[in-house]
Amino acid sequence: MEPSVVLLREAQILLPSTKLVNKVAVITGGARGIGAAAAKLFAQNGAHVVIADILDDLGATLADSIGGRYIHCDVSKEADVESAVELALGWKGQLDIMFNNAGIPGPSGSITSLDMEKVQKLLSVNVLGYLHGIKYAAAAMIKTRKGGSIICTSSSAAIMGGLGGHAYTLSKESINGLVRSAACELGVHGIRVNCISPHGVPSEMLVNAFKEHLGKKDMQADDVSKIVGETGSLLRGRCATVEDVAQAALFLASEDSGFITAHNLVLDGGYTSACSTMS
Ligand code: NAD
Repeated sequence: MEPSVVLLREAQILLPSTKLVNKVAVITGGARGIGAAAAKLFAQNGAHVVIADILDDLGATLADSIGGRYIHCDVSKEADVESAVELALGWKGQLDIMFNNAGIPGPSGSITSLDMEKVQKLLSVNVLGYLHGIKYAAAAMIKTRKGGSIICTSSSAAIMGGLGGHAYTLSKESINGLVRSAACELGVHGIRVNCISPHGVPSEMLVNAFKEHLGKKDMQADDVSKIVGETGSLLRGRCATVEDVAQAALFLASEDSGFITAHNLVLDGGYTSACSTMS
């Protein structure tokens, strides 16, 4: 190979990734887990990131470390989400990417004895929180006439029954419908709306769920990765990481996915397409 070609390739490897240069993003639930991984990756790709969460210390520290902003934002409260979008607009004059990602697990147990107060709480975060995010992000994007990308974290629980409890499934399937509906209206403004459906990512949420279900308080993320990798993925021994999901969010946020809207990008190692009798 020509030396000049080798040099060019090496230079490209050294160059920082620039998929989101000059873009402004709000990430709800960005203080930890999937949202935190996305905040870091978006910033590495040149984005200005606003982290909106209720974990103030974690969120503010992460925002400082990536040159971003933090705002206390309970997504179930409409005014909080409006303020998060206003922070982005006041800071950089635009909003290009809204990553609606904040979520909580649902109450488990039989449908015949569901705690309806807990269900209401879940729906206020996992459904209304997403509606708030789309409402204010879309308004900002329409106003600045630059289009944009809205990404919502759904779940494999919206595809398969029996994952995470009835109320959690209800909340995530609602997100899929909302995404399709919003994409229909907003496409004319150049705004794309998509969802990501991860499966079995060993974040704090999933580790806590495993601790509860298996009654093992000392369970760690590595134990959960091993179990999910062996039983919840066609790619044996491998489960999704928060970085895998962040890469999918980056794809949907950037122009690499410029003609994709109303789509559900499933990150499940093929699990939800699997037939249990085949292996
Ligand atoms: P996580 O618990 O590590 O992160 C969730 C984040 O959301 C936290 O920072 C939390 O403080 C924040 N949050 C919770 N309630 C909030 C509220 N009312 N307002 C603002 N922020 C709030 O869990 P995660 O796995 O990173 O979850 C991120 C998203 O991914 C969730 O929507 C979850 O349902 C979804 N998801 C996770 C998995 C998985 O296996 N971990 C699978 C499918 C979908």
